Amino acid sequence: MSVSVSEKVLINDFRRDPEELITSQVAAVERVLRSGQYVLGPEVVDFEKKWADYSGVPFSVGVGNGLDAIEIGLRAIGVGVGDEVITTGMTAIASVLGITRAGATPVLADIDPRTALLDPESSARCITSRTRAIMPVHLYGQVRGMDGWRRFCSDHGIFLVEDCAQAHGAVESDTPAGAFGEWGACSFYPTKNLGAVGDGGALNTTCESTALTARKLRNYGQSERYHHPLLGLNSRLDELQAALLSERLKFLPQFTERRKGIASAYYSGISTEKVKLLDPPLEPSAHVHHLFVVLAIDRYKLGAHLATRGIQTLIHYPIPVHYQQPYAKIIRDPEGLTATERHATECLSIPCHPNMTDEDVDHVINSINDFE
Ligand SMILES: *Cc1c(COP(=O)(O)O)cnc(C)c1O
Repeated sequence: MSVSVSEKVLINDFRRDPEELITSQVAAVERVLRSGQYVLGPEVVDFEKKWADYSGVPFSVGVGNGLDAIEIGLRAIGVGVGDEVITTGMTAIASVLGITRAGATPVLADIDPRTALLDPESSARCITSRTRAIMPVHLYGQVRGMDGWRRFCSDHGIFLVEDCAQAHGAVESDTPAGAFGEWGACSFYPTKNLGAVGDGGALNTTCESTALTARKLRNYGQSERYHHPLLGLNSRLDELQAALLSERLKFLPQFTERRKGIASAYYSGISTEKVKLLDPPLEPSAHVHHLFVVLAIDRYKLGAHLATRGIQTLIHYPIPVHYQQPYAKIIRDPEGLTATERHATECLSIPCHPNMTDEDVDHVINSINDFE
């Protein structure tokens, strides 16, 4: 079967955004242009309030990107040089880079192969007298076992912080992602569930003083004009991105519902022993299906097969952080990171974006089930 380019099922397809969303974004761009104010103005204030409300936290601080959100978040709670922060190597490198950039020492624990999320037993083996924080990454959109992580942190006397880049709006047992510990770092990279038309990020927190410090850090460490009590960054969310994000946020609830619908169709429709699925969420609100990842021993063959059917696939992530050259000597679980390494060789992301049609979803399911 041959499929023309316009019929391809892509991992993300913003060209298929609803016309109403495109029009409202064009109006938002004009609104900012005519306002004459382009950095840290009313659009940022307005978006921060809307994002905090949507996320279920009292404070949100707009920043330049998700990487900076992690650095700023750690610095805001005083985690830095000499402090170890445990996280996972099955993530975007930015998770770990943010820890390094804050001056702290990242330590990698292994994942649970059923979910690809940070594993508590491996994390316990990573605890030392220098451990100050642990940062679970809500990979693929899943928030899971957070009560356990809270206990883990109080038992060890360390901070809980969350990488929420992939889990916008996820809620586990009535607590939203980003509200379990000190803060949640958000990214608005275009492909995230809420994406900007460029780069953006936010630090969500339930703690007012963390928010206040983050506000200073994002703007040269400035408290009031020309007063710089801290050594800060230049990591400001700009007015244009904030205005565009406010428009896109209006569509996020319906987009998230659509992602959930696609994922549940995949869970019930994909049935071939060639492909394994990760554990489904324990409660629907706790997974926002940023990515839908399948596991296959023959994943390159599966990817090639799907490509012949016009279906794009990607790999999240093919090279774990400890295989990246700057992190070759990163401290890790003394028993190794075997589940992380295995996941990296078998995972394949299939399309799961809100602009997919029902026909697209059926086409993906049938094509996977046809894989020999
Ligand atoms: C995208 C992403 C980041 C980094 O966000 P940027 O805005 O690209 O800096 C961090 N962590 C995870 C898990 C991500 O997916």
